[in-house]
Amino acid sequence: MAQVNWATERKNMVNNQLIARGINDPATLEAMKKVPRHKFVPHSLIKQAYNDHALPIGNDQTISQPYIVAFMTESLDLNSTDNVLEIGTGSGYQAAVMAEIVASVYTIEIVKDLANSAKNRLDTLEYNNVSVKWGDGYHGWPEQAPFDAIMVTAGAEEVPEPLISQLKDGGRMVIPVDDKDGGTYLIKLTKQDGKLKKEILAPVRFVPFTRDKRNH
Ligand code: SAH
Repeated sequence: MAQVNWATERKNMVNNQLIARGINDPATLEAMKKVPRHKFVPHSLIKQAYNDHALPIGNDQTISQPYIVAFMTESLDLNSTDNVLEIGTGSGYQAAVMAEIVASVYTIEIVKDLANSAKNRLDTLEYNNVSVKWGDGYHGWPEQAPFDAIMVTAGAEEVPEPLISQLKDGGRMVIPVDDKDGGTYLIKLTKQDGKLKKEILAPVRFVPFTRDKRNH
């Protein structure tokens, strides 16, 4: 394979897919320019790593399109001191992008193989402020709560109640939620004085949020 300049690929991705479509949060753009997405995709797909679409990562799951990763990151209004929870670790890419911006990222993945490989990958890349847990993210991570921001990267039927209670006052959550007509919308919830403000951001497509029926 001819030598690929990954930094150039990333710069082009940021310019053509993100800035061109209105992403303008400097911290988000900086993180997207930095995280080596090609190290989060299967080796056989490495040449497509910076393409403008999602890619399969095994176990019927996907790494989201770069634009969606950036859009969701920007929507959370992240600060450098934030403690963040992600549900749906997948490859670990989205967690790495947020880890470039915030103090700590806790991320939960329900598929054991994916949780293990994401953990190894993030360790190898020295993302020391990311913790990966295998489990059903419906319950959140009470030991590390409350969170300044919560991102769910699988399409849910409803917003899990435990996630709402683990959000700090002033905290933000973005989550794709199915509506009754079969569509899925990215929703932003902001907790203010104990109340939730809801905004509908965009129609999206995501792999489904699943539940662990064994309830362990
Ligand atoms: N954020 C990922 C992409 C996630 S795809 C990345 O950057 O690569 C959605 C992931 O959510 C899948 O890996 C899926 O297994 C996981 N998932 C689905 N339901 C879940 C649940 N209840 N708890 C934790 N993870 C879940």
